[in-house]
Amino acid sequence: MLTITNIKRPGSNALETVTAENGVIKGWNLPPEGEVIDGQGGTVAPALIELHAHLREPGQTEKEDLASGLAAAAAGGYGTVVSMPNTSPVVDEPALVRALIEKAGGLGFARLKPAAALTKGQQGEQLAELAFLKEAGAAMFTDDGRTNENARVLRLGLEYARSLGMVVSVHAEDASLRADGVMHEGPVSEELGLPGNPAAAEAARVARDLEIVAQLCQHGGGARLHVQHLSTARALDLVREAKARGLPVTCEVCPHHLTLTDEALRSFDALYKVAPPLRTQADAEHLLAGLLDGTVDCLATDHAPHTRAEKERDLLEAPSGIAYIELAFPLMWTRFGERLGLEKLLDLMTQAPARVMGWHEPTLEPGAPADLVILDLDTEREVNPATFLSKAKFTPWAGETLRGWPTLTLVGGQVAYRRE
Ligand SMILES: [Zn+2]
Repeated sequence: MLTITNIKRPGSNALETVTAENGVIKGWNLPPEGEVIDGQGGTVAPALIELHAHLREPGQTEKEDLASGLAAAAAGGYGTVVSMPNTSPVVDEPALVRALIEKAGGLGFARLKPAAALTKGQQGEQLAELAFLKEAGAAMFTDDGRTNENARVLRLGLEYARSLGMVVSVHAEDASLRADGVMHEGPVSEELGLPGNPAAAEAARVARDLEIVAQLCQHGGGARLHVQHLSTARALDLVREAKARGLPVTCEVCPHHLTLTDEALRSFDALYKVAPPLRTQADAEHLLAGLLDGTVDCLATDHAPHTRAEKERDLLEAPSGIAYIELAFPLMWTRFGERLGLEKLLDLMTQAPARVMGWHEPTLEPGAPADLVILDLDTEREVNPATFLSKAKFTPWAGETLRGWPTLTLVGGQVAYRRE
């Protein structure tokens, strides 16, 4: 039993009390029982849900591991994390899915819902044993980290996943168009003399994948395609058109594509190297409009930690990825809180990801899982990567002043994170 006092529900100024028992919300404003935690006037919401994080286990634990990644997620206010399967080995076998779930369950941080590879070894040629992977607990299928070059295999994967009621999510970039581009192709890449990755690489791949979905829909029943980390205005417009046609497609946008642009590469710092790359201010504004008009289904961070030594290599050699699961909510709230509003922002990070996956939408009602976050919406704090629980103790936003920091995260009624 656990009681949190002095908290506000979104949209209300009343100070209330919530009690959790046996992993669920027992009720509101009951006499305090069990351990009592003072919520200090913070705002309570269902814990955030992350559909896209690289936790690097198994095999790349010098970058991150389940414990550091899930602790970092809880510190960021997340109660549930979908981990990407591009590890070493690739998570393409049921035993690997089971091992991850078992290990994560004993850690006491955020819940883990591992994604499994769509194809064996993420090689894109042969489907993995999708039914057995689902049975083992895989949350979705994706070859993220790689692109699905073989359209026929993706089509077969979508058909198979449909029969299992599962989502297939895709890293939509045409590999041959992307080539060896290390940043967005445009005036800035030309000026810097760096190989560019054109917007067409994403738009062309999204167009192809949407045609596959349309084709499958003609054969009755929809495929469930989720486009990851959408970064360009053109690709977003394609998704908008597809939705208007009634196609069963969803998409996510990452806070880094909303808050950073290709201008950051003028530093030649590989901290800003990410795939798909940081685009233009016009793209970022288009993506924000997509959040507001509902074209973008949800936010996801694509938390992609690497070692400092890897990210200190030069731009051509360094791996792609930005890690910031601990500050995603404060970043979004500080930069876009006024334009989005609290309710919409929380929806994009909690209920909306659940809808994409077909999970029960998290609520604050009695009986719902006691996966909760308390957010301090007002107090400003500087981003200090040295305090990160993630192994990646560096970030593009170091030294920035943000509001909206999580102070407490409960997962199943247990404390998964509590700010000192
Ligand atoms: Zn990706």
